Amino acid sequence: MSTKGSWQGSDSDLAGSRDRYDPSAIEKKWQDRWESEGVYKTLDHVPGKENWFALVMFPYPSGDVHIGHWYGYSGADTHARFKRMQGYNVLHPMGFDSFGLPAENAAIASNIHPGTYTETNITNMRRQFRSMGGSYDWDRELATHEPEYYRWNQYLFLKMFEAGLAYQSRGFANWCESCQTTVANEQVLDGACERCATTIMRREMDQWFFKITQYADELLQMEDIDWPNRIKVMQNNWIGRSQGVDFQFDISDYGLSETVLTTFTTRIDTVYGVTFVVLAPEHPLVDQLTQPAQREAVSEYIAQAARTSEIERTSTEREKTGVPTGAYAINPLNDERVPILVGDYVLATYGTGAVMGVPAHDERDFVFAKKYDLEIRVVVAPDGWDGSDLKEAYIAPGTQINSAEFEGLSSKEGIEKIADKIEANDLGKRRITYRMRDWQFSRQRYWGTPIPIIHCEDCGAVSVPEADLPVELPKEAEFKPTGRSPLADNPDFINTICPDCGKPARRETDTMDTFVDSSWYHLRFASPLAAEVPFEQDAAKSWLPVRQYMGGAEHAVMHLLYARFFTKALRDLKLIDFGEPYSRLFNQGLLIKDHQKISKRSNPLAPDPLVERYGADTIRCYLMFLGPWDQGGDWSDDGLSGVTRWLNRVWDLCIRDTTGLPSKGDEVAERDLIRASHKTTRRAVQDLERFKFNTTISALMELSSEMNRQWEMGSVSSSTWSEMIDRMLLLTAPLAPHIAEELWERVGHSFSIHSQSLPEWDDDLAADEIITVVVQVNGKVRDRLQVAADVSEEQAFEAAFASDKVKVYTDSTEIVRRIYVPGKLVNLVVR
Ligand SMILES: [Zn+2]
Ligand SMILES: [Zn+2]
Repeated sequence: MSTKGSWQGSDSDLAGSRDRYDPSAIEKKWQDRWESEGVYKTLDHVPGKENWFALVMFPYPSGDVHIGHWYGYSGADTHARFKRMQGYNVLHPMGFDSFGLPAENAAIASNIHPGTYTETNITNMRRQFRSMGGSYDWDRELATHEPEYYRWNQYLFLKMFEAGLAYQSRGFANWCESCQTTVANEQVLDGACERCATTIMRREMDQWFFKITQYADELLQMEDIDWPNRIKVMQNNWIGRSQGVDFQFDISDYGLSETVLTTFTTRIDTVYGVTFVVLAPEHPLVDQLTQPAQREAVSEYIAQAARTSEIERTSTEREKTGVPTGAYAINPLNDERVPILVGDYVLATYGTGAVMGVPAHDERDFVFAKKYDLEIRVVVAPDGWDGSDLKEAYIAPGTQINSAEFEGLSSKEGIEKIADKIEANDLGKRRITYRMRDWQFSRQRYWGTPIPIIHCEDCGAVSVPEADLPVELPKEAEFKPTGRSPLADNPDFINTICPDCGKPARRETDTMDTFVDSSWYHLRFASPLAAEVPFEQDAAKSWLPVRQYMGGAEHAVMHLLYARFFTKALRDLKLIDFGEPYSRLFNQGLLIKDHQKISKRSNPLAPDPLVERYGADTIRCYLMFLGPWDQGGDWSDDGLSGVTRWLNRVWDLCIRDTTGLPSKGDEVAERDLIRASHKTTRRAVQDLERFKFNTTISALMELSSEMNRQWEMGSVSSSTWSEMIDRMLLLTAPLAPHIAEELWERVGHSFSIHSQSLPEWDDDLAADEIITVVVQVNGKVRDRLQVAADVSEEQAFEAAFASDKVKVYTDSTEIVRRIYVPGKLVNLVVR
């Protein structure tokens, strides 16, 4: 028995019970039993059961499972348990996303090897996940830093390399001076490193890319996946497909090899309003077009732009800047000469790296023109425009004006007709362009998957032969951040021979972005022990795609986009036969405390002492009770008491001595209770399906109150009572797995409640529309009938005559009068 916990007796009506609910006495016991009996072990096939892959985003092994983790993981576990009890063969695995920068930074800061740091953390987190009561099949655990895992990163990379889906290229990369590594576009937040908030610089270097842009159009198709709309919208925006026109300005005056300057625009209807042209600072023609008088200003400007991140450059908040080159371009549609400027809000990677400036109809251009005093000419008129100066750019559709032969057309028609004219006169072409760039995945760091490439002077970049995989990370390394991979300082690692020609060669020293690891881990979970292949075909077929993916919305673009890309690429490599990794996605909200996100850094709320004090079930249920799971919740220690009271009530209801209950209960009381329990069942099952854990718990709380009320009235039979208890426990099991298991045993059932089916409900029994009709015989109440609210007079009399309690008075008498008050009363006068 517990000696701590004065909280337990807070409910006065429970004070009489000596056998108190003591989580510490039961939780560990059941965790051990679940494990020793393999309750959550998952077979690939179970006859008669459909497979359900319930995947939760695996954690980074940061050291502690904080309560924010619990919020995500206990909800996911509850849903997986619910699916298991619904009759599915459920796979709910756990693993660790264990490569990455934090381990390496810890190594630099405290001189602990990243491997030691990682494995110590994993051991602790595994213990903590056990204490939460997760239904994980630990036999399937995986950790991405193990060679057994990352060799398959290398294998899949080589398949993609050989298919042209991975390539090396020199170009500008996002560089974090503090992390001393490149980061992908997706990892730059507001111009700063996502990890350390240092401003990102542009640096030219050799990098490795995955050709995600090849799948841009397919990645935009999301009709067949059941994902939150906001995630779809974010992916859509990230991919950024736009339809436009490459339009050529004449620069033949300058005697360059290029006689035209090609701009890209999505608003060719505004082409008669062009008053300047802007080039990205990296545009190849900048140097040749810059006139001597402007050379110094332009060079300075370009140097400045190189120190500014792309995100910052394109931020709508930032002031638009630019500098004239001194050169002019001619708009071939109206022969006007317009100045050519360099502006960093234009990116070399978008469109052609050159845009036409139409200040009247583009917000950025409007600001830019105001600042540099350039002409603002309206060519698409708003409805009812009086010709006065615009206060801001007019970007909506309108009527073409000042547009030569296109005058008077709608701008929608203008877009097509003007593009037709441009194509007919060889002045340009319609084109589709994307904002998304190829995924730059090479990192100059140690704690990641070595890229299995050998550089040979004669043969170039050569694949490491499959038989030589994995290319293992050497154990010894210098962890000082130097701007290049620590592997580059390890001669034993670097020096090798070319697999093609046998000459001395050098290994690639960059490692892979950790997002490569998580792009296909769901496949590995299907057959985590496979030694000869990344995943077994059979297992992949039986488990994938993932039926339900659960995790935080912060992965809207990176992980979720990369995983979709990998799936499509592996499909095209004929390694799998499906194109989407996650059929259904649910994002839980954020758990906050004192208005702050709970994280290791801000306000860690260690679960261990909480579990010790309140028990895992209480914490789980409290987290699920805080609010709708997708909207997050606000943790407060005070809030725990409601859930504590409820679980104590459940305990108390289940351990009551039922020997004194009647064998036959009062019909009205029984019907009331049965209705309540069927209603609760329906609500719980429907709400659990939709992750509405909070309303499920409310419904169960109401049921427990109703049960207690009926108990106190003493009018329920022992058989109905025990049916109610079973129902309540089965519905509680996914949420509070330990107490449900303990009480399941105590009320006389065999292990395990988690292998049981959910109770079913009967809509008729659950129907609210049941009313009570009083039956009087000669003015005295003899029965109360539960009937449908829309009962007819005839049915009401039939029901009355069928009642045993009424029969006693009517069987041997003559009925002289029948009175029916609709929905209320049957009155029989007998003689
Ligand atoms: Zn950084
Ligand atoms: Zn060679």
